[in-house]
Amino acid sequence: MSARSSFSWCILARLLPTLTLLLGIQVHGAPPVPSLEDKARTLIDEHVAQIRPLELEANLTWWNANISGKDEDFAAKEAAQNRLDAALANAERFAALKALRASPLTDPILKRQVEVLYLAYLEKQVDPELLRKITAKANAVEKAFNAYRAKVGSTEMTDSEVRKVLKESKDHAQRKAVWEASKEVGAQVEADLKALVALRNEAARSLGFKNFHAMQLQLNEQTQEQVLRLFDELDTLTRGPFLAAKAEIDQKLAAGLGIEVDELRPWHYQDPFFQESPAIFETDLDSAYTNVDILDLCRRFYAGIGLPIDDVIQRSDLYEKPGKSPHAFCTDIDRQGDVRVLANIVPNEYWMGTMLHELGHSVYSSKNIPSSVPYVLRSEAHILATEGLAMMFEKFSKDADWLKRMGVKLANPTQFNAVGAKMRRNRLLIFSRWCQVMLRFEKTLYENPDQNLNKLWWDLVEKYQGIHPPEGRDAPDYASKIHIVSAPAYYHNYMMGELFASQVYHTLSKEVLKGTGASPVGNEGVGTFLKERLFGRGRTLSWDDLTQSITGQRLNARAFSEDLQSR
Ligand SMILES: [Zn+2]
Repeated sequence: MSARSSFSWCILARLLPTLTLLLGIQVHGAPPVPSLEDKARTLIDEHVAQIRPLELEANLTWWNANISGKDEDFAAKEAAQNRLDAALANAERFAALKALRASPLTDPILKRQVEVLYLAYLEKQVDPELLRKITAKANAVEKAFNAYRAKVGSTEMTDSEVRKVLKESKDHAQRKAVWEASKEVGAQVEADLKALVALRNEAARSLGFKNFHAMQLQLNEQTQEQVLRLFDELDTLTRGPFLAAKAEIDQKLAAGLGIEVDELRPWHYQDPFFQESPAIFETDLDSAYTNVDILDLCRRFYAGIGLPIDDVIQRSDLYEKPGKSPHAFCTDIDRQGDVRVLANIVPNEYWMGTMLHELGHSVYSSKNIPSSVPYVLRSEAHILATEGLAMMFEKFSKDADWLKRMGVKLANPTQFNAVGAKMRRNRLLIFSRWCQVMLRFEKTLYENPDQNLNKLWWDLVEKYQGIHPPEGRDAPDYASKIHIVSAPAYYHNYMMGELFASQVYHTLSKEVLKGTGASPVGNEGVGTFLKERLFGRGRTLSWDDLTQSITGQRLNARAFSEDLQSR
């Protein structure tokens, strides 16, 4: 609206009451009825004014607790999160958002903000008493997991001791006993987990969803049909390559253990769930990194592709210290460029990959999402998009060509590349089959929790992972996977992130690198492409529309499957 027309409106508005009084008539439509756009703007402004400081506090206290590990810092973190959750439970604001969402609002950016906020508030509209029960039950099961130690005979074993036996032991009876002991936690938490599933379904139904799984997906802008279609496609494209890779793994494992391939059982695959590739190759990639400054390599790499990260490194906490979280993560504190990484760098291949990964998250943040994008939309488009981007960069730690271009000398680059490529390929294939089990199990679990879940679990493991189920076993082995308790209906996003990464990288290769296999090292066009096509959009598009807009196609498994053929 121009200054002039608003001036005229002001005069009329001032005269209206006088006119009404003088003429003794009611003037309908005065005071002015705010337009839908005005209503949306006011609501969003109110939300931001209240929520922004709460989000900042929640992010800062979360960071502090993970750095110090102190009880009082954890208490502060929990209190800040509770304040944020309580604010998002505001029923009046949710009702207003719901009405606006159903209205013919046309401005696409306002419409998108209303959608994003509607979903954020919807999740918190559950009866507080029910929510309290769910949290208490989930905490009880998580505590049982933390306290659980596999017990063989009278010996208690830590998780890493279990893994060591499964990785190294040649004693089949010992392997079997240790594997079975590691699954015992399932039987301990089974009843609580089933109760938790029932409570989660009750909450979902109270919000109008058919079950909890359907709700979780919809809160993340996905549908079960859409995700399942994608996983069916992925299944078709990976089955052959997976079975071929597994045949080689089986052969090597059986030979190493001195048994026949058809004698292999779940306890022979090193990882308790066969979600990771067994170590079957002689060469280890770690030796390449013993004398490398991982941080400097990351700094030079990201600067070279036009996405410098010096400011992130300055604010980060990167080395081991007492009390600190042993993991790694990246966090955008204020959506104004204060982006930090927590890590515990040690000079090996794992930490090279992890730092490339976390710093990959850091470039896809308010560092590179312009402040002209409204606060509500100033974040990554979706968890799968930022995980995908981070995984796209992570893989270079296994790539000899990348190391060479970065100036790192390798004793035997050909061997490094051959082993690195095979490890990456096996990892992706094995992980993709494991994700199939998780997605399909969780979907069916919430649809029909009263069925024979023990059988469902092993049917899926046999079908998708090709593992021979243990004879005569009838135990709740599914319940020994903590993610089913603590990160429900979430796992599939990692796999979709891999598909997203492959698809975006193919487009990037074609448009910027001018050819598959061409190196991104030192090419600033990579940063320009990512800023313009991905980062700059923030959350203005859904993950689905974003993928279409960057790559010209909906998310699919073709680029991922091509990568498995060629790398
Ligand atoms: Zn990540």
